[in-house]
Amino acid sequence: MGNVSIGDAPGHLPLRTIAENYDAVLFAYGASKDKKLGIPGEDLHGVVSARSFVGWYNGLPEYEDLNPDLQSGDTAVIIGQGNVALDVARILLAPLDLLRKTDISEQAIEALSKSRVTDVKVIGRRGPLQAPYTIKELRELLHMPGVGFASPPEGWNDLIRIDRKQLPRQLKRIAELLEKGPKTPMEQAQKAWQLGFLRSPTEFLSADGKNLSAVGFERTEYVAEPSSVIPKDDGPALSGPPAAMNAIRDLKVRGTGAKAKIDASLAFRSVGYQSEPLIGFKELGIPFDQKLGIVPNDMHGRVVDPERGPVAGLSAAHVPGMYCAGWVKRGPTGVIASTMDDAFHSADIIMKDWHDEVRFNEFGDSETRGGLEVVKREIEKRGIRSVSWADWEKIDAVERSRGKEKGKVREKVRSIGEMLKILDG
Ligand code: NAP
Repeated sequence: MGNVSIGDAPGHLPLRTIAENYDAVLFAYGASKDKKLGIPGEDLHGVVSARSFVGWYNGLPEYEDLNPDLQSGDTAVIIGQGNVALDVARILLAPLDLLRKTDISEQAIEALSKSRVTDVKVIGRRGPLQAPYTIKELRELLHMPGVGFASPPEGWNDLIRIDRKQLPRQLKRIAELLEKGPKTPMEQAQKAWQLGFLRSPTEFLSADGKNLSAVGFERTEYVAEPSSVIPKDDGPALSGPPAAMNAIRDLKVRGTGAKAKIDASLAFRSVGYQSEPLIGFKELGIPFDQKLGIVPNDMHGRVVDPERGPVAGLSAAHVPGMYCAGWVKRGPTGVIASTMDDAFHSADIIMKDWHDEVRFNEFGDSETRGGLEVVKREIEKRGIRSVSWADWEKIDAVERSRGKEKGKVREKVRSIGEMLKILDG
């Protein structure tokens, strides 16, 4: 059931209602907040959260009014080098004809068609092999027609500082891809991008006290020589990536005190996402780890409470009937495929616990749990207009047919009010 918000306020459904009516509850609500940098100037006009920009061009109702300023200057700085940063760069750089065929919102196409941004700088605090971007996303951007890529002035060798023969396969491919550069030579490029490394943001600067005019950085350096961190005997790991891969990826940096500055009227903060606890967790005794931004769990998806341990050799006990999956379980990492695998695993664990007859949910009376019928009644009583799967299919059909008229996959309905109008006439 969609369009149902969990909470205590009027028009919301209390978590307790769900907990009392089901044997098990699985939390898979993702990460709804973006991390902030906590540096001066973060609220200046022109500093945009990558998360809201992604939501805006994807037509999410929450970000309909974002109105990013794409016209004040030609340079955009993106802080962070994960796949979200590359997503933002791709949208700023992609030829409009390519974007028009996707399901990007018409509103975004309109704004991007007037964009003056031609130069995108994606800046990371560590080096090319420490950045979390993945090969497929990097390649897609490097191969984008009409888009140039400027190599960093330091040169790849100076930045990577590891003999290519010593690199694990995946990192070697990244190094080769970066060194090979773009499909489009710079002279033929209409727009271009650049990756900047070993720079940590310190402040957003403004010439007039209101609008962003530059981003300030401190230069950083590796805490150890990159080639020295590779373990001598790196045999095949039993599971997961080889030790060399982890050692290189995890290499840290420290500030050097040297300052740098990039003039720009637009900057995106793209430094990761964060989950939040649901209203009702406290009341039901469901823990939340504020530091890690996750629901504490046993890595299999069983919610555990350190306050309830130690039990049977474990330091924390399972909160009966409570499970989690995805970003609230593991933190905001991984591509869609790995998040799906994680969800399948949590689902398998619920099945296993059921077969093993472990103790399930302890709220309410297990003999009289009402399941969906009771929850539905409560939703109606609270005046919530929930959306069923059949409703979703109706909205989907309207989006597809509106898209077809424009020669694209779909044209998204951008406000919840309009979605409900489609359903209720
Ligand atoms: P991410 O991959 O965690 O990248 C965050 C970036 O921000 C890193 O470069 C990180 O640098 C940097 N950063 C963090 N705190 C910082 C600070 N205080 N100062 C400067 N830099 C800072 O996060 P994301 O890009 O938001 O992506 C989230 C997840 O979604 C990832 O797993 C990603 O792969 C996935 N995703 C996948 C796709 C796709 O499949 N196509 C698309 C979008 C997102 P450090 O490494 O030094 O911490």
